[in-house]
Amino acid sequence: MNIFNSKKSKTPTSNQTALPEIVLKYIHDGVITTDKNGVIQFINPAAVNMTECGSADKAVGFDCSLVVKIESKEGRALDESENPLIQAMRANQPIESMQVALIALQSEKRIPIALSILPVENASQNRIVTFRDITKELEEEGEQTEFISTASHEMRTPVATIDGYLSLCLNPQTATLDERARGYLTAAQAASKHLGKLFQDLLDVTKLDDGKIRPHFEPAEMVGLIKSISDGYIEQATEAKITFNFGSNDLSSSEHRMNQVVYSFIDVNFMREIMDNLVENAIKYTPEGGSIYVNVRGDGDRVLINVTDTGIGISSDDLSHIFQKFYRADNSDTREIGGTGLGLYLVKQRVEAMGGRVWAESAFGEGSTFFVSLPRISSDEYEKRMIVVRQLQNQERMMAASRPQTKPAASQPAPAQIATPQPVVAQGAQVKSPPVQSAVSPSPPTTNNPPVVKQNNINNNLNGEKR
Ligand code: ADP
Repeated sequence: MNIFNSKKSKTPTSNQTALPEIVLKYIHDGVITTDKNGVIQFINPAAVNMTECGSADKAVGFDCSLVVKIESKEGRALDESENPLIQAMRANQPIESMQVALIALQSEKRIPIALSILPVENASQNRIVTFRDITKELEEEGEQTEFISTASHEMRTPVATIDGYLSLCLNPQTATLDERARGYLTAAQAASKHLGKLFQDLLDVTKLDDGKIRPHFEPAEMVGLIKSISDGYIEQATEAKITFNFGSNDLSSSEHRMNQVVYSFIDVNFMREIMDNLVENAIKYTPEGGSIYVNVRGDGDRVLINVTDTGIGISSDDLSHIFQKFYRADNSDTREIGGTGLGLYLVKQRVEAMGGRVWAESAFGEGSTFFVSLPRISSDEYEKRMIVVRQLQNQERMMAASRPQTKPAASQPAPAQIATPQPVVAQGAQVKSPPVQSAVSPSPPTTNNPPVVKQNNINNNLNGEKR
């Protein structure tokens, strides 16, 4: 039968009226409808099975958040402001989340789900709640991530070796080359550096996406920290004939004090990676004769950092995409400039992991400003946290002193080493930080997460709470 040619009948047949019910009965996704207060009116068999609420009759009339019990996908209890179900009921807004896990009522089994809540556009303001088990999708994603991570890790080592030998070839003290060979090897070294950076970025992306690198928070004075990181770029900027400026002022104070101190509670290694990326980009995308300004200031309860350049700028079309994975603006200016398109994605991941926000403003052809806003702590709070840090450091020192000294293992052969050239330090400038620990090994999980709250048996909640 050609359904497009068949006439629409005015009165539905019994088959047509039953079709939605059949779909809802056999579909694998959980489907629930609620009234505007979140009270369940309908629940399909898949939702009954997944929530383990017993039967549709038992669930109808209960608050949806008691039947669809959720926690964060990392196993953390959600307070009301974080719970998408509660928020969707209040805001009457569509919400989608893949960051939650369903807790089955009877077995307390955790199932990662894709949750969607849609308000129905009519006066009754019903909501449709759907959820789907994404265990398999996450497993497949995890396998892919694992593969990329292992491959990047394994390939980094030979690339570093190639880079090391190319450095030896190009060093007049260790090798003699004619001009043509020098040109070829210089190009080969640029390509191996690009490859090394790509593998490092890929490794960081997979680890951050996978939650294997978590911020290791510590109190920090931000003006001093950002200045010390930025100072490491004075030489590179000078070589590129770009003027480098650093400043700090307080937006929240009426006098706009200069050289203030502002405090935050951050991961210092994350902060270095973020600044390295933003300042390297500023240098990369600014032609000779341009300027870069790095500024740190307090802005109410935030610390605001900006990296401004007078470079090639970003078109408004590109501006909305630059924080996406692998996105590179493609124009005559950027085509010549190497890059992986992963740097700003990593910046965003790291900033957000520290409770911050990053965004960019730009005028094409005139320059760009990248802003990083982070939660600010008071000087009292900073001092209190520093006392804890010092106590922990003392404890660690005492434990290390009381540990028996271990002799170095004589039987193990020393790994073969290739001499790598040391960075030259400009007068007054600081050496760029060495590769940070978090980039190669996961830092210990943060202690900031609230403890996992054990969920009560669902039936306890279902008893007596029917509205
Ligand atoms: P890449 O390795 O390509 O620099 P990023 O993720 O760091 O990757 O940046 C993404 C894109 O954003 C770049 O390819 C470039 O087009 C644009 N971009 C980033 N920083 C700047 C800047 N300071 N000035 C102009 N364009 C920039």
